[in-house]
Amino acid sequence: MTLAQPPSAPLDWQYAPSKEAPDLVRLERSYGLFIDGRFVPPLSKQKFWTVNPATEEPLAEVAEAGEKDVDKAVRAARLAFSEVWSPMPGAERAKYLFRIARMIQERSRELAVLETIDGGKPIRESRDVDLPLVAAHFFYYAGWADKLDYAFPGLRPQPLGVTGQVIPWNFPLLMLAWKVAPALAAGNTVVLKPAETTPLSALTFGALTAEAGLPPGVLNILTGAGATGAALVSHRDVDKVAFTGSTAVGKMIQRNLAGSGKKVTLELGGKGAHVIFEDAAMDQAVEGVVNGIFFNQGHVCCAGSRLFVQENIHDQFVAKLKRRLSTLRVGDPLDKNTDIGAINSAEQLERISELVAAGIEEGAGIFQPECALPTRGFWFRPTLFTGVSQSHRIAQEEIFGPVLSIMSFRTPDEAVEKANNTPYGLAAGVWTQKGSRILWMADRLNSGVVWANTYNKFDPSSPFGGYKESGFGREGGRHGLLPYLKVEGL
Ligand code: NDP
Repeated sequence: MTLAQPPSAPLDWQYAPSKEAPDLVRLERSYGLFIDGRFVPPLSKQKFWTVNPATEEPLAEVAEAGEKDVDKAVRAARLAFSEVWSPMPGAERAKYLFRIARMIQERSRELAVLETIDGGKPIRESRDVDLPLVAAHFFYYAGWADKLDYAFPGLRPQPLGVTGQVIPWNFPLLMLAWKVAPALAAGNTVVLKPAETTPLSALTFGALTAEAGLPPGVLNILTGAGATGAALVSHRDVDKVAFTGSTAVGKMIQRNLAGSGKKVTLELGGKGAHVIFEDAAMDQAVEGVVNGIFFNQGHVCCAGSRLFVQENIHDQFVAKLKRRLSTLRVGDPLDKNTDIGAINSAEQLERISELVAAGIEEGAGIFQPECALPTRGFWFRPTLFTGVSQSHRIAQEEIFGPVLSIMSFRTPDEAVEKANNTPYGLAAGVWTQKGSRILWMADRLNSGVVWANTYNKFDPSSPFGGYKESGFGREGGRHGLLPYLKVEGL
């Protein structure tokens, strides 16, 4: 920008690139399975590549665990449970968890880069949201490890045994923290399977726990695809299954485990409703909506992917939203100025593209800002649909991408009815200046979480989970301990 520019000329400037250094991460060429405190080659002898979705370059070769590997990991976890971890006093377990939390903080810059190159999310998010929350979860549950009797007074809480945990690719390390931290704090041992497209941060975490001196077998990491996950959750010596992922796979797991006596929690998909009333602080609400749907490319189970705007402010709100969308920066996830990074995989890009094509086909109006996309990698422009009706696929199905479906309403009753018109029930946001209306809405929305005048706010002390096809069980807070404990009388 030059000072001599006439006042009417549009500002024509760009941010200078500000790239985080990829060499903060030292990758192995090939990774084994993390079983019994060390990396071992897979008995299956199978391997696969994990790629950087922003460049399509292969990053490392990763082991694909077969049934024998699953069995080996579960045996290691069983032995560690009965010999070491469950007899250990809670105060001693806490020391390991505190140490792990501190090591995560010490290595957070490296782990953030790793998360970004393996998953495609902007470094701004992995650095400022994912990693601080990962450490906070370990600190939080470390604090509970010696206080379980106070968490459930008089109910004699006991650990369950070996837990089988399966997590998705959208928040690889954070989903690990949500599952591993409470399970270990409660005295259980863990076999965890990360998603096929994002295995590297979990493997690095495994190595970190060995450095922290965590006894062998307490945590085991099995990389692999869906078949590895299926073998893990159905292993007869797994006492508790914790799954986060799609509703379709969640249903399959529940069917397979019916009658097995295993304790199960499922954190599944969502189709979050963001409701904007006429009295809302409009510019703040626009920022909240942008954060709600474009954070992590919309790969968020609780993404506010359906927007309901009160009819009399609809046009003004949509105009502001379009203007804001035009300022979002799509591109290199390692650049600190990037708002929207790469789509996690070619398959997910295909699914997003298919649903967006369905939206156009069904007659909704599409808006995408002009922006140049990189030539390699998986990318999708931030997208708005207006004129969406309740029956459109884009209003009903989880897109799991940067796509917002906008609808309008006239009365609070109509807003509730439309917001609840989905098989899901994970999260919602309400924007209004009236506290009484927030409480009225929160009472009526079928949603595990309702945010008021904000969106996507997380804290380890606050429980999170769904209703209906979004699953059951809670993660976070004291509630998040319960799925990992036998508690008398509950
Ligand atoms: P999946 O449910 O397929 O994957 C979640 C995890 O389960 C992954 O580790 C996956 O392995 C594993 N898995 C797959 N099949 C089985 C099985 N039969 N038994 C046990 N574990 C299994 O979700 P996707 O990653 O394929 O994403 C598809 C859709 O799921 C998304 O479009 C989105 O709608 C939703 N989703 C919801 C998430 C949420 O947080 N609620 C998170 C991620 C996805 P692998 O990675 O090898 O397939």
